[in-house]
Amino acid sequence: MAIDHIPILMYHQVDATPPKGTRMRGLVVSPGSFYRHMATLWALGFTGLSMKDLLPYLKGEKTGRVFGITFDDGYENNLRCALPVLQRFGFTATCYAVANQVGQRNQWDLERGVPQVPLMTVEQMQAWVDAGQEIGSHTLSHCFLGGLDVAQQRQEIADSRAALEGMVRQSGGVRNFCYPYGSLDAQSVACAREAGYDTATTTVRGRVARTAPGDLMLLPRVLVSRTTTCVHLALKCLSAYEDRRGRAHPLEVAA
Ligand SMILES: [Zn+2]
Repeated sequence: MAIDHIPILMYHQVDATPPKGTRMRGLVVSPGSFYRHMATLWALGFTGLSMKDLLPYLKGEKTGRVFGITFDDGYENNLRCALPVLQRFGFTATCYAVANQVGQRNQWDLERGVPQVPLMTVEQMQAWVDAGQEIGSHTLSHCFLGGLDVAQQRQEIADSRAALEGMVRQSGGVRNFCYPYGSLDAQSVACAREAGYDTATTTVRGRVARTAPGDLMLLPRVLVSRTTTCVHLALKCLSAYEDRRGRAHPLEVAA
C-alpha cells in the first residue's frame, strides 16, 4: 500500500489509568495500551521516529513507512513507562518540555483541577536524550501564545530553546517546538521560524501530506487518547479518518 501521508502521534502521559472522574483522564494512556499502539504500527511495517529523525521524511529527502511520536509537557512517566516500550521496538520520540517547569509539576493545569504529576528533572531529561530520544520545547510557561505581544511570544518561544539547551546536552541542540494548547497566531509562527526551529507541531488533527507537506511550523498531528484502540489507531494512521476531522486551519484553532 502506498503511504502518501505521515502521521505524527500526539501523546501526553503514559501511566496507570487514573480513577474515573479525574480531569483530563483521557490524556493518560496506559503502558499496556501504549505497547499495543506501538506493536500495531510496528506490525504494519512502520518505524516510529522523533521529530528530529522524521525531518528528512517531512522534507521529502527520504521515503519510507514512518510515523512521528510526540509527547507534550515533559512528564516523568514518559521516561518511566514509554521509554522501555520505545526501546523494545527501536523507535525514537520527541518529548516537548516546559522550560520553567522542569523538575516541577504541571502547574498550568492546577486551576482546571487536573491532577498534578511530576515533570522530568534535568537529569531525567538527560537520561531520555542519552537513551536516543529527543527533547523539544513547549515554551517557558505553557502559556496561550495566540494574542500575546511579540516580545512575550519571542521570550516564550526563543528563550525556552536557549534555556533547555542550557540544561540538556543534545546533539544539534533543541530543534523542535510545540505550541501549548495549540494556541497560536501569525506572530507565533514567525517567532518559531525566527528562533531557528526545524518544525513546530499544533493540535490540529490530521496527517502530513507527503507531496504537499505545507508549513513545517504548522504541522498537524494525530490525537491518541486513553480510549484509542489499535484498530482505531491504524485507521487514524492509514486512512483519511484523522485528516477529515481536522479541516480547520491552524491559525483559526485554539484548542
Ligand atoms: Zn501541553
